[in-house]
Amino acid sequence: MNFTDLNLIEPIAKAIEEQGYTNPTPIQERSIPEILKGRDFLGCAQTGTGKTAAFSIPILQNLTKKDLRNNKSIKALILTPTRELAIQIEENIKAYGKHLPLKHLVIFGGVKQGNQEAALRKGVDILVATPGRLLDFIAQGIISLKNLEIFVLDEADRMLDMGFVHDVKRIIKLLPPRRQTLFFSATMPSEIQKLADSILNNPVKVEV
Ligand code: AMP
Repeated sequence: MNFTDLNLIEPIAKAIEEQGYTNPTPIQERSIPEILKGRDFLGCAQTGTGKTAAFSIPILQNLTKKDLRNNKSIKALILTPTRELAIQIEENIKAYGKHLPLKHLVIFGGVKQGNQEAALRKGVDILVATPGRLLDFIAQGIISLKNLEIFVLDEADRMLDMGFVHDVKRIIKLLPPRRQTLFFSATMPSEIQKLADSILNNPVKVEV
């Protein structure tokens, strides 16, 4: 399969070509058409499989197809356990979204919140976050997730290993129930399977 078979809009197809990608990876082949249709998705995939593009590309396209004028609220949230992963994900979104007007931001703890806060106040369409800093901003009333349309939980098993599951569950309770949810984990221990079952609605399941 070639990326041209995936019905991507021109600004995204062009950005992918500029990245030098010609063929989608196996997870991308399966995820992109289903996420574009609005389906929930459960991906059992390690880093290195192309999973970041597997969710970033269809999110960019789904949000582009909506009318986003005059709407400064956060529409997509990607939750990931570490600062390094968060930065990498935002770099991917920046690359695939370079010809689109969507605004994206990465937030994480361990640094002063001033710059992140200023960027949030200008309006962000796609937010990449680690759990602790996100909860801090929500508690301060700087972030609202009431207009969220797409939620991605990345590296769910690492969230568990790093002791973030309680924070993740608190965040999930704050999300609108009508949303698209994408769930990624390298392994599926029973606690993660239960979490997936509780937040996904009839998901497409892909293991690579
Ligand atoms: P990830 O699994 O998301 O960490 O991606 C692993 C690496 O593969 C990253 O460096 C991506 O830039 C690269 N990559 C993702 N999708 C493709 C693709 N379809 N063709 C070539 N490289 C890719």
